[in-house]
Amino acid sequence: MDTYAVGFARPDRWSHGHQPEQTHPWHAVEAHRPSSELDGEVELAVCGAIVQVWGSQRWERVGSGRTACPECRRVTAAAKPLTSAR
Ligand SMILES: [Zn+2]
Repeated sequence: MDTYAVGFARPDRWSHGHQPEQTHPWHAVEAHRPSSELDGEVELAVCGAIVQVWGSQRWERVGSGRTACPECRRVTAAAKPLTSAR
C-alpha cells in the first residue's frame, strides 16, 4: 500500500523558529493503515517532521497545494507521480 496520509505540523513546534513549518504546515505521512484509522495520531512525516494526521484530508489533493511541505512533495512525487505534475 503506497498511499500517503496527510499530517498537519503540530503548533507546539512552530515556536522553535522553524518558519517554513508555518507556511507549509501540511506533510505527507506514509500510510501503513487507512488514513481514517490514523486520524489524530502523531506520526513522522516523510521529511522527518512530527505531524498529527488529519484523516479527512487527502495528500493527492493537499500535496498539490501551496501549503504543502516542499520536501514531502518531492519525496512523494518521486515515489508516486502525481497526475498534476508539471
Ligand atoms: Zn514535510
